[in-house]
Amino acid sequence: MSDFIDQNGAEQSFGDSDAQREVRANDRQYVFHSWSAQGKIDPIPVAKGEGVRFWDYDGKEYLDFSSQLVNLNLGHQHPGLVKAIQEQAGRLATIQPAMANDVRGELAKRIVERSFDGARSVFFTNGGAEANEYAVRMARQHTGRQKVLARFRSYHGSTATAITLTGESRRWANGTPDAGVVHFFGPYQYRSEFYAETPEQEAERALTHLEHTIQLEGPATIAAIILETVTGTNGIFVPPPGYLAGVRALCDKYGIVLICDEVMAGFGRTGEWFAYQAFDVKPDLVSFAKGVNSGYVPLGGVVISEEIHNSFVEKPFPGGLTYSGHPLGCAAGVATFDIFEEEGIIERVRDLGARVVEPRLRELAEKHPSIGEVRGTGLFWALELVTDRGTRAPLEGDGYNAVIAACKNAGLWPFAAGNRLQIAPPLVISEEDLVRGLDIIDAALDVADGFVA
Ligand code: PLP
Repeated sequence: MSDFIDQNGAEQSFGDSDAQREVRANDRQYVFHSWSAQGKIDPIPVAKGEGVRFWDYDGKEYLDFSSQLVNLNLGHQHPGLVKAIQEQAGRLATIQPAMANDVRGELAKRIVERSFDGARSVFFTNGGAEANEYAVRMARQHTGRQKVLARFRSYHGSTATAITLTGESRRWANGTPDAGVVHFFGPYQYRSEFYAETPEQEAERALTHLEHTIQLEGPATIAAIILETVTGTNGIFVPPPGYLAGVRALCDKYGIVLICDEVMAGFGRTGEWFAYQAFDVKPDLVSFAKGVNSGYVPLGGVVISEEIHNSFVEKPFPGGLTYSGHPLGCAAGVATFDIFEEEGIIERVRDLGARVVEPRLRELAEKHPSIGEVRGTGLFWALELVTDRGTRAPLEGDGYNAVIAACKNAGLWPFAAGNRLQIAPPLVISEEDLVRGLDIIDAALDVADGFVA
């Protein structure tokens, strides 16, 4: 029976069971969704989750290779996280930010202890976009300068400054709410803007372009450079050798604050607590969210260097949020640190990434002509899909949709972005499930190969 026509013009039903039908019908009637034409979407109903799996109301099972929006690092219904939230809710469910609280202080302490040398304090927010808003505000207040440089291939969130920082197309329809933002190119060797032939050359030329941008914008007007340490949604770009150290050197040379956006890459995703730690680079501010408590309760924040913290010892910091350091979110954050230690999460990610994921993806690239490039680290990977390896023409439209549909039909929820199949399962995934998901991707790539010229 047809209930509505989807964006591809196909007849769709709300589902088999009464529950599935009711959830879908209510959603379509009353819920306004992000980033979507409301008449053209069909959000999947989710009845329950467990570890790396979730189920719809008809009982269809999905293996989550996307960790929801790359936040569910410890999987669904982790008993340690659920218990911490329940206990905190029973004791003190909320408290305003100007008061001190045990879990808030404990989480800030643990984050600072795992951060760069010279990290001093944490300002808590409700999520990643706000973390970037506040990081930029701190940099501006600290330097007395207004401009912020951000990369084109980036996503930094969808509030006013964060959406302006965002370099990709989601920014376009929102105008320019923050006039102080200027974009530059980061390294992307597969489609190099700099005609580079080696990663080292790509890094060097990207740094020259960045320095020219700084000089042409006026170094004395630039408060901060913000970058995703390992770019997430826009392509999983691991910085080439020398790049991050070079950005740090430019920040030092011109008195610019370096903000690492670790909202997606932080908390174990790359096999480090924070992704910058693999590059021996010290940021001044670090924004985080998502993995801090696997998104069980909305929480984000900014890790602040001693020097920037000291700017606000006498002078008040002009900003705050009612739910800053919410006890439920912080209790889940403290539990996250405990679980990471108990379950050796960082070591697991390094092992599974290097031993299982990378070799298998390289093997897939040998087998499937639709794979243009494999890149990533830890449990954070991208397969760049093309219709022609020679021209590197991206696989888009019907071909790309068919690959994503093949994954979903086989019970795998992929991290779909641009012309890429991205891979970011919960960090607690077993080797067996990881291999099962990669097998499904292997089969879906046969569909992609059908579109190769
Ligand atoms: N920064 C990065 C790197 C992100 O990936 C995201 C969200 O995906 C954000 C910021 C925004 O976070 P939020 O959606 O919690 O506001």
